[in-house]
Amino acid sequence: MRSPDVLSRIDEGELIALTRDLVRIPSVVRPGVPGATEAAVAAHVEQWMRKERLEVEVHEVAPGRPNVLGIIGERDGGPTLLLEGHTDVVTEGDAALWTRPPFGGDLVDGKIYGRGSADMKSGLAAAMIAAAAIKRSGVDLEGRLVVGALVDEEGDMIGAKHLCTTALGRELTAAIICEPEQNELCLEQRGVVWARVTAKGRMAHGAMPEAGVNPITALGALLSEAPALERRLRKLCRRSPHLRPPTVTPTIVQAPVQGVAQSNVIPSMAQATLDVRLTPGPDAETIGKELDATCQRAMEAVPGAEVTWQAVNGFRLATEVDKGEALVRAMVKSVRQVTGRAPKFGGVPGSTDGTILRMTLGIPIVTCGPGNRLIPHQVDECVEVAELVEAARIYVVSALNFLKA
Ligand SMILES: [Zn+2]
Repeated sequence: MRSPDVLSRIDEGELIALTRDLVRIPSVVRPGVPGATEAAVAAHVEQWMRKERLEVEVHEVAPGRPNVLGIIGERDGGPTLLLEGHTDVVTEGDAALWTRPPFGGDLVDGKIYGRGSADMKSGLAAAMIAAAAIKRSGVDLEGRLVVGALVDEEGDMIGAKHLCTTALGRELTAAIICEPEQNELCLEQRGVVWARVTAKGRMAHGAMPEAGVNPITALGALLSEAPALERRLRKLCRRSPHLRPPTVTPTIVQAPVQGVAQSNVIPSMAQATLDVRLTPGPDAETIGKELDATCQRAMEAVPGAEVTWQAVNGFRLATEVDKGEALVRAMVKSVRQVTGRAPKFGGVPGSTDGTILRMTLGIPIVTCGPGNRLIPHQVDECVEVAELVEAARIYVVSALNFLKA
């Protein structure tokens, strides 16, 4: 079957309606608030996939937090391609700041509005519609196409981590990450390490600092070393035309860490978190040594203080995929077929579920999805319907090219 025949099975109205439905089911994860998880939107995705007669697997990652996977095609030794999306969204913040209701899914002048409209219920809807179009066409795939709606991308990525431990996860050959990248083909993603730095000193009276060791002063010394650390990481990491260079950004500072803050007490401990963003190149050990050296300088500045660091949530190194990979070639061809133009290549500024799949499974990933790259997490988040439809078409043809239908 030719791809135009399959493309004709994409119903734009249905794609718009599905995206709006997903946006209207709030899925901000609010720890401690009963029911505030991805459960409702995951149930909607599951029902929809069953209605389309996809083979469905539901993996309960945590209570009320299921990954939902819809599968078409047969295992029989062929490749398995994943179209990946996440069901959680970040908070809407102050709803009064929005021009349109954050969970309204309003459709105005060719744009769908709401939290998650770009990041990334539109990408997920496009993947679901793409799989349904292929299923409805009855085309024979060599291998399998999987649509994954995973939990917790905006948190600790427990959904992606869990998928890597399942039989289906281990059988994946390649993945398209449907995050908002204005349908560019992104072969590189910046990595991140959240380094939580702990300075330990000795508690004392504020009037007699000589009797103690002030961990806050040590932390101050560490923070003043951050620009130097950033410069060293920029030398170690490769330059990329699609990614901003490494950055080291302090995001949390806390002292005392425990107990009551009192104006006349030098606390025993102080903590800071450095948000370290990376481009491809150095391994975890090399980056760890640079962080060690930074802590060492802070200790030299304040004799008696002990300064250590720990990676919160482990290392997510920058990822890159070669242009020669079969998935990249399938997608380049697809973009030409769908848009009549050569694809634009881009880079992902942050890390995504794709980072986990790439690091853990070693499979090639390409990030490509509808929505402006800068709009996620802002008020009045929206997605252009034209981009949404184009994404679904790119997914269909990419899957057909990769799975040699
Ligand atoms: Zn996202």
